[in-house]
Amino acid sequence: MNTVVFFKHPEKLATALSRVPFKELSGQQVLVKLHMGEKHNPYFMKPEFVKQVVDELKAIDADPFLFDTTVAYHGSRYTKEGYLKLASHHGFTPEQVGCEVVIDDTGVPTTVEGRTYEVATHLKQATHVLALSHVKGHIQTGMGGAIKNFGMGGVTKETKTRMHDGSYPVYHKDACTLCGVCAEACPFQAITVTKESWKYHKNKCLGCGACVDECPTDALRYQDADLQYLLACSAKACVRKKNIIYINELKRISRGCDCDPRAGPIICPDIGYLVATDPVAIDKATLDVIHTVKPDVFKKINKINPFKQVTYGEEIGLGSSQYQLIEV
Ligand code: SF4
Ligand code: SF4
Repeated sequence: MNTVVFFKHPEKLATALSRVPFKELSGQQVLVKLHMGEKHNPYFMKPEFVKQVVDELKAIDADPFLFDTTVAYHGSRYTKEGYLKLASHHGFTPEQVGCEVVIDDTGVPTTVEGRTYEVATHLKQATHVLALSHVKGHIQTGMGGAIKNFGMGGVTKETKTRMHDGSYPVYHKDACTLCGVCAEACPFQAITVTKESWKYHKNKCLGCGACVDECPTDALRYQDADLQYLLACSAKACVRKKNIIYINELKRISRGCDCDPRAGPIICPDIGYLVATDPVAIDKATLDVIHTVKPDVFKKINKINPFKQVTYGEEIGLGSSQYQLIEV
């Protein structure tokens, strides 16, 4: 069974790392995967904590560098240069965190469960990784943690776009009974149903899949697959055959993603940090721990079941949801 270590305050970081095989990163070049923040979103993981992690890596003679990928939407992080500038503005510079900062815009095709994902080149080449995931809500996947950090954050913008596009619904009129369940399930009012008609407002749809999940007659299906399924597969393409320590930060838990300039409000009090070696176990533990503080908060706020990514991850062999929680 996986061990997931919980600690409340950053000063317990070294103790927590001593309870997982952190020393296996000793003497290695270590890619530190994290999101370095979007413009107008203050919730990203702070450089002070990241520096503490970098210092722990250096203390075991590892050679760390911070790493992330460009994004599919136009803005500061669309290009490597733009992202580096924004990262620097947020405090992620070699002077402040103590190591290089690298942004990738290219990828290597990697096939998982019959689909190909372009894993960022540096990530594909890395053998040792430390994953820093700031946990928050997400309007399309309910919650974003370790699985999403890799599943969306570890691949090229072309793969990001393809995954998003593949999760939009396709309507099959012959099977529709005009029951209206999909319209009620949609968090974005992208469907209207009357006694005579079914209407889809594509400009409002974010491909969250809630309507597909709830339709009782299979009249709605994915263009390709559920985004949370694609995330789990993509994460597997990113992390397999690597030696990885995962740290999830359960603080500044906002309704929306770190990518969203309007991600507020905060929907759960600060809790602390989790450390593990399995992305499925750490995300399951994250959801369980948050549930004890704010029951079903992601489902209530974002109307999306965030546990699907964990279930899919277990089904495809990304990891195991079984864990034992210990506190240090
Ligand atoms: S995929 Fe999500 S946003 Fe799009 S119509 Fe269905 S429920 Fe609404
Ligand atoms: S939930 Fe399915 S059957 Fe009911 S109105 Fe929507 S598409 Fe039609």
